[in-house]
Amino acid sequence: MNHPLFDISGRTALVTGAGRGIGLALARGLAEAGCTVVLNGRDGERLERAAAELPGDRVHTVVFDVTDGSSVEAGIADVEQRVGPLDILVNNAGMQLRAPILEFTDADWHRILDTNLTSAFLVGREAARGMTERGHGKIINICSLQSEVVRPGIAPYAATKGALKMLTKGMCADWGPYGVQVNGLGPGYIETELTQPLVRDAEFSAWVRRRTPAGRWGRTEDLVGGVLFLASPAADFVSGQVLYVDGGMTSVL
Ligand code: NDP
Repeated sequence: MNHPLFDISGRTALVTGAGRGIGLALARGLAEAGCTVVLNGRDGERLERAAAELPGDRVHTVVFDVTDGSSVEAGIADVEQRVGPLDILVNNAGMQLRAPILEFTDADWHRILDTNLTSAFLVGREAARGMTERGHGKIINICSLQSEVVRPGIAPYAATKGALKMLTKGMCADWGPYGVQVNGLGPGYIETELTQPLVRDAEFSAWVRRRTPAGRWGRTEDLVGGVLFLASPAADFVSGQVLYVDGGMTSVL
């Protein structure tokens, strides 16, 4: 990435849920682009192992639960004091629970809402305090193709991701005047721990390949380019958008 529009070297980025899967791949991409990267998660040992895999010596970890307001507040304060002011936030932490609505418990509803939506509100709000004061920042919320479309058995997940899309637009409206751009990135079906039950289901797995114009499942690395773009000066006039990186799936019936 030699063009100055894509130069994000020297920026500081926090990625939530970065101990594995998509978050880890995005953290690696940001580190390779020259960012100082902070990996968040709830399991400190897993984060240390993940950090050791990343290139460069500007990789840090911070343990906090993204669903807990006071932990989020303390975690962001700790990062800004220990590592430096945040330029980029990737709200990636999330979970999936598959069950028909009639079998979905109140507790699971609150858990998935807290993990996929409240988390972005809490972490985004704390990160944006400094960003809006300094007059620049990039926030990228990891949405989903299910921000747009839904299948039977995943209504609560889709509801959280659809609402995350609107939260993205609302953050864009609130913080745009202060130089902060907020966008979403919507992955299609990507092979990770979260989708293992689907990957192992041969029939479903074949359906994904058939339904995706690109003809395959996504890989975590497929998402890196979109995040680097949204984090870069090339996207300084792009805000409130969701970039779907799904091999074309959301565009076809
Ligand atoms: P994984 O299950 O592999 O990883 C989820 C990550 O989130 C883990 O590192 C986990 O860390 C972290 N996490 C979960 N809850 C919390 C919490 N309360 N506090 C802090 N961290 C938490 O999922 P993926 O990598 O597949 O998914 C990443 C994101 O991408 C999610 O938002 C998901 O909805 C989205 N997505 C994924 C798709 C896919 O096909 N895989 C498709 C579309 C969207 P730990 O448990 O160690 O704390």
